[in-house]
Amino acid sequence: MKPAKSLKKGWPVRTWVQLVFFAWIAILAVGKGLAEAGMDMPFLPDVSLHAVCPFGGVVTLYNLATLGRYVQKIHASSVVLMTLVFVLAVLLGPVFCGWVCPLGSIQEWIGKLGRKLLGRRYNRILLPRTDRVLRYARYAVLIWVVYVTARSGSLIFANIDPYYALFQFWTGEVAPAALVILGLTLAGSLLTERPWCKYACPYGALLGLFNKISLFKVRRKAASCIDCKRCDRACPMNITVSTADKVTDHQCISCYACTSESACPVPDTVVVETRAANPRVVSGQPGGSL
Ligand code: SF4
Ligand code: SF4
Repeated sequence: MKPAKSLKKGWPVRTWVQLVFFAWIAILAVGKGLAEAGMDMPFLPDVSLHAVCPFGGVVTLYNLATLGRYVQKIHASSVVLMTLVFVLAVLLGPVFCGWVCPLGSIQEWIGKLGRKLLGRRYNRILLPRTDRVLRYARYAVLIWVVYVTARSGSLIFANIDPYYALFQFWTGEVAPAALVILGLTLAGSLLTERPWCKYACPYGALLGLFNKISLFKVRRKAASCIDCKRCDRACPMNITVSTADKVTDHQCISCYACTSESACPVPDTVVVETRAANPRVVSGQPGGSL
């Protein structure tokens, strides 16, 4: 099969989706902040950020099941959003991470500058072994967050949450630790792609598990692959797509940057499909397979 001549530019539709969700959350944050300061703007909604956070639905589940009430500040809308994200994840994997999450998007946008500054060293800063081990730290964060929230009945995670800090830093309500973690996350994005997603995000850890069971997966057709490794270089999560038949790595964010629509120069070679022609599974180096 004849390969395309040049590297494609990516999926502009994903960038647009990311921009729309980023702008939407920013508008909600500004509307809420102004309303709390006594400046109600009729054209800005007065909706809490917690009300539109699907991870709030996860951390409130224990209290909802045992006490019949939500964790402080969490709304029923979070449970509805959590359910929607889970349904999407069963179908396609963690598309929330790759297409929707504004914190993931801003790390990615800063990463474009980092890539320009560091070239090929970008996204390869840590030793592979260190990187591989650190990627499991987010499961410890997930267990800790669920435990302390269930014990306390309050949203303790907000005190360190860079997502909350990103949109609320100007209100004076954000804990210093959250601001520090946000600063480290944004600065770290200049060195490596999506550092918060890779090493610390508890919601990403949970959604990453769906890569094992999702109906549609990224699949590579070995018969037409020319082994150029462009799919590997395009992957923000350092997954080795070029040796896989299907990607089940827990770090995949379903961004589809590796596909024949985007990085792979051979048409119909890296695709998102329900069934593999060959059942071999990627080990996901250096992120590893869960
Ligand atoms: S394997 Fe493909 S879809 Fe998954 S994170 Fe990497 S580039 Fe995105
Ligand atoms: S699957 Fe990866 S290695 Fe194979 S042709 Fe496509 S980009 Fe190159």
